[in-house]
Amino acid sequence: MDSATVAALQHNIETIRACMEEAALQVGRKPEEITLCAASKTRSVEEILASAAFAIDCFGENHAQELERNFDAGAYAGKPGHFIGHLQTNKIKKVVGRASLIQSLDSQHLADALDTAAAKLGITQDVLLEINVGGEESKTGTSFEGCRALLDYAGEKANLRVCGLMTIPPVCDSEAEARRWFARMRSFYEELQSRCKGLTILSMGMSSDYAAAIKEGSTMVRVGSAIYGPRYYPNKSL
Ligand SMILES: *Cc1c(COP(=O)(O)O)cnc(C)c1O
Repeated sequence: MDSATVAALQHNIETIRACMEEAALQVGRKPEEITLCAASKTRSVEEILASAAFAIDCFGENHAQELERNFDAGAYAGKPGHFIGHLQTNKIKKVVGRASLIQSLDSQHLADALDTAAAKLGITQDVLLEINVGGEESKTGTSFEGCRALLDYAGEKANLRVCGLMTIPPVCDSEAEARRWFARMRSFYEELQSRCKGLTILSMGMSSDYAAAIKEGSTMVRVGSAIYGPRYYPNKSL
């Protein structure tokens, strides 16, 4: 990595940390309650490793192949790697045993398969339940109703531990609009916490809206482009 790229990563991460702290303090929260997950999809091993030197708490991957490659290459420098994308059951073997947290459990079928894979390795797999808070067809995740049922279902699995919730809200034009989605998530999260012990993570907020999410109670933000710059997908038209 050339030194200009490393300096840019450091600058971006420090800026995000400062904004996270400011958002937390504005609503009377403790900044240290909120973790920064770097969404490292499409980035090279070298770039991820360079970013790991700065104040990132963990990494989030959307593709099983990228998690496998980056984890096995040591790109996270010993920090936890999470899985944050849609997980197909045929890719589970690459993820279980590498991902400290799978943030995107959204079906009973996937819960069965993850539990089986974790049992084979003799581990407990930490998971978040993903909610499609806007009910958008283009997005994965469950409804609130579906999430209650999935929490009961996954809670029965010997090798799964549900640690909280994750969401990606609809694209919003204003911070006020984004905050309404995040506030709905927070009140649902608090309802579940009162029924179920051990829920400690509310993962919400990305590059464009992490400050809004923190003001509404997010405990983990997942930030990609604000750290690494815009993403380019070769051979794909966006
Ligand atoms: C890519 C991604 C992010 C980060 O998105 P940015 O807008 O680049 O910050 C967060 N969460 C998930 C699930 C993602 O796929």
